[in-house]
Amino acid sequence: MSPRPTPLRLDSAACDGCGRCVSRCKPQALKVGPGYILVDWPSCDGCGKCVDACDREAIALRSAASDAPVKAATAAKSATGSKPAAPVKSAAPAKPAAPATRAPGGPARDWSLPEAVLTVLFAFALYLTMQVVPREVTHAPVWSGVALLAYYAAIAGLLFFLARRRGASMRSAFRLDVAPEWSSLGLAAAVAVGCWLVSVGYYAVVRLTGLKPPVADGPDMVTLFGPGAAGLALTMLVLAVIGPVLEEMLLRGTVLGALRSRFGPWPAIAVSAVAYAFLHASLWSLLPFAVLGVALGWLAVRSRSLWPAVAAHVLYNAVFVGAALYKALGG
Ligand code: SF4
Ligand code: SF4
Repeated sequence: MSPRPTPLRLDSAACDGCGRCVSRCKPQALKVGPGYILVDWPSCDGCGKCVDACDREAIALRSAASDAPVKAATAAKSATGSKPAAPVKSAAPAKPAAPATRAPGGPARDWSLPEAVLTVLFAFALYLTMQVVPREVTHAPVWSGVALLAYYAAIAGLLFFLARRRGASMRSAFRLDVAPEWSSLGLAAAVAVGCWLVSVGYYAVVRLTGLKPPVADGPDMVTLFGPGAAGLALTMLVLAVIGPVLEEMLLRGTVLGALRSRFGPWPAIAVSAVAYAFLHASLWSLLPFAVLGVALGWLAVRSRSLWPAVAAHVLYNAVFVGAALYKALGG
């Protein structure tokens, strides 16, 4: 008896491992990873939700009229029916990855190079604009916080514009709609702690050598939004949450996403890390920021979701901002 055709056509070469299909599959019949799409056919009910989720056409509904019988072995239920058969790897022939096209009704996730360049230039231009605003504004209590909020609002506006331009929500365009795996969140915590130790060690070595890095010429954290409890909470929110989230969307979302599909993961990680380090505009801090940028880029590439990189960045900043506020308040 010829095997029953499977309801899906799989193209593992077109899959970028985003995991969106996995989160839509209620029977948990799908697994994806580097170079493979696995479907536990006996568990698959052919609902097609994974097809709707995939904008790279790596999964498509098999039309009985147009498709030849499946090449992938169809896993039949065991004779007793008590145990599902082992997942079957897609046997779709390898072919070049699909270009970043926009599937009907769905957004493309691969950012273009002009979009990546635009976001970085925009962020640098904003930073330079902040430098020409009189110090009485950018360094004055509360006004410095307002200037920082304006900076982040402009970044958020650009990211929103880019997402809407391709008909996507912010969550979907920046891989924030894919739930992270628990193991990735554990790695995120390890990355944050590791980078924090690297930074502390780096500044300790700098001090030991007798070098004196100039004191950062920025506004005082304590007076950013005022020294009261509400002001400090707002400072924490902006520096440890809003800033990291937007920076991850910009650098590990747009920049790394655009470069990764064209030049591979490591060049993309390196370029996004260098851009991240330079955006902080401190020569003395280039090294620890570059290390953090590489670690966050690696997390983003390794995870199907942007959340682990966001979590690591938030944790890293929260520790530094919390310690700085504690010290400044005489703790
Ligand atoms: S949704 Fe993502 S993980 Fe699933 S098949 Fe498509 S590209 Fe691959
Ligand atoms: S068709 Fe439905 S059940 Fe089958 S793999 Fe896709 S989402 Fe899962």
